[in-house]
Amino acid sequence: MTIAVYPGSFDPVTLGHYDIINRTARIMDKVVIGVLQNKSKTPLFSAQERVNMLKEVTAELENVEVRCFDGLLIDFARNCGANVIVRGLRAVTDFEYELQLAQTNRVIAPEIDTLFLNTNLKYSYLSSSIVKEIAGFGGDIHMFLHPQIADKVKAKFAQADACIKG
Ligand code: ADP
Repeated sequence: MTIAVYPGSFDPVTLGHYDIINRTARIMDKVVIGVLQNKSKTPLFSAQERVNMLKEVTAELENVEVRCFDGLLIDFARNCGANVIVRGLRAVTDFEYELQLAQTNRVIAPEIDTLFLNTNLKYSYLSSSIVKEIAGFGGDIHMFLHPQIADKVKAKFAQADACIKG
């Protein structure tokens, strides 16, 4: 059985992430999306919210599971029984860090390979950070996210605005 772990912050999940999940689900028996809990100190969404959003958008993909993790990615991957870690590559700027991460993980766990999927050209510019930046200025984000996720992002920023205004 081929099991892939797709780790990330997913703060929030974008159409670019979804494209990678969908393509991985087609080539692997099972995909476990690993939501990293401790990486960003101040994420917009809590780990549980990010897990829930991923569950919502992947509900129709039967071989996809969503879990939360902290600590070493390799420990999580072993715990899931994964043979592969999947990462998405958007541009050369992703490459150096991703290669270093993959090489290091290979030294720690030679039985687990890293598989890079190139981004869908449509989403090659897209990241969660850019979406948050646009949403923070009240810009339109519907072309970057599933509709229900876009609504949640807008609600978060509206909530934050209301807090600032008191
Ligand atoms: P991280 O902070 O670990 O990079 P992200 O949630 O930003 O977490 O991304 C998770 C994975 O998804 C990474 O491998 C990243 O390169 C990939 N990814 C993010 N956005 C896209 C996109 N638009 N197209 C393809 N891959 C993407």
